[in-house]
Amino acid sequence: MARLTIIRQLELLFSRPEPPRRRRVFSSDEFLLTVWRNLRREFFPELHDLDSYVVSWATRPQKRVLASCNIRARRVTVARELFEPSASCWIAPVLYHEMCHAAIGESVQISRGGKRMWHGHEFRRLEARHPDIPAMNRWIRTGGWAMAVRSYRARRAWRGRSRAIHTVSL
Ligand SMILES: [Zn+2]
Repeated sequence: MARLTIIRQLELLFSRPEPPRRRRVFSSDEFLLTVWRNLRREFFPELHDLDSYVVSWATRPQKRVLASCNIRARRVTVARELFEPSASCWIAPVLYHEMCHAAIGESVQISRGGKRMWHGHEFRRLEARHPDIPAMNRWIRTGGWAMAVRSYRARRAWRGRSRAIHTVSL
């Protein structure tokens, strides 16, 4: 299973045709939805209804949140920063993390303090089925995500500047 996942991830990386563009809110991004549905088929073959989730890129730049899952709205949002070349190999495990939230739903354990334990035992057990989760957490912990955020910003700033120069030369 681990081997399959890696191959599939590579295929997806090589076949992605274009960078994410701003689209209408609440409609899925084709690339993200493909990754999402492949994960669903592999890890939750019985949960067909997860296919109807809307999976899209965040509209605003992110700093701390890689992705989020809105169970009631059935929507997953992914930071655009994850499309940076150094980060895109983590899109699948990030989506898988959110998929575990979607699979468990709102019926999570409540802590003694009355808080919902979104990352409780059941969640960790499900999450551990994806082979890339430990490496992804290490990548986040050791500054990989922070670096992706910086390079995304630099790229955007550069793009803005080159556009301005172009406008002037007209
Ligand atoms: Zn989570």
